[in-house]
Amino acid sequence: MRLAICPGSFDPITKGHLNVIERASKLFDRIIVVIMVNPDKRSTFTDQQRVSFIEKSTKHLDNVEVDLSHGLVVDYAKLKNACSIVRGLRALTDFEYEFQMSLINKKLNPEVETVFLNTSEEYMYLSSSMVKQISSFGGDISDFVPTVILEDITETLKRRD
Ligand code: ADP
Repeated sequence: MRLAICPGSFDPITKGHLNVIERASKLFDRIIVVIMVNPDKRSTFTDQQRVSFIEKSTKHLDNVEVDLSHGLVVDYAKLKNACSIVRGLRALTDFEYEFQMSLINKKLNPEVETVFLNTSEEYMYLSSSMVKQISSFGGDISDFVPTVILEDITETLKRRD
């Protein structure tokens, strides 16, 4: 059983994230999408909302589960006996940070491999912060987030203003 984890903030999950998760779900037997809770980084959506958005968006994927973690990615990987950490790569801008993280994670736990999946071309400009910015100015985000969570996201962002 080859288990991989897809860690991230997912604040909120976008079609770019979902595309990476869908592709990873074909490469591994089981995937856990794990929201890494960082107390220094205030999220826009609550932990529960972020979990629920991912659950709704991945309902069609039999081998994908969702979880939350308050610790280090490598510790979570070890706890779950995961062989890989899957990360998406958008452009050169992601590379430096991801490269550094993967080397640090390798040092902390040499057993776990980081696997990078390139973004699909249509999502290469897409990020959670871009979605929030567009929506806060009343823009249409339907091309950017899974349809099942579109209304929840726009409603929450509207209530914040
Ligand atoms: P973090 O805060 O850890 O960077 P994110 O939730 O922003 O987490 O992203 C989680 C992972 O998904 C990261 O590897 C990120 O590069 C990747 N990702 C985000 N947006 C996209 C996208 N549009 N296409 C491909 N990968 C993406």
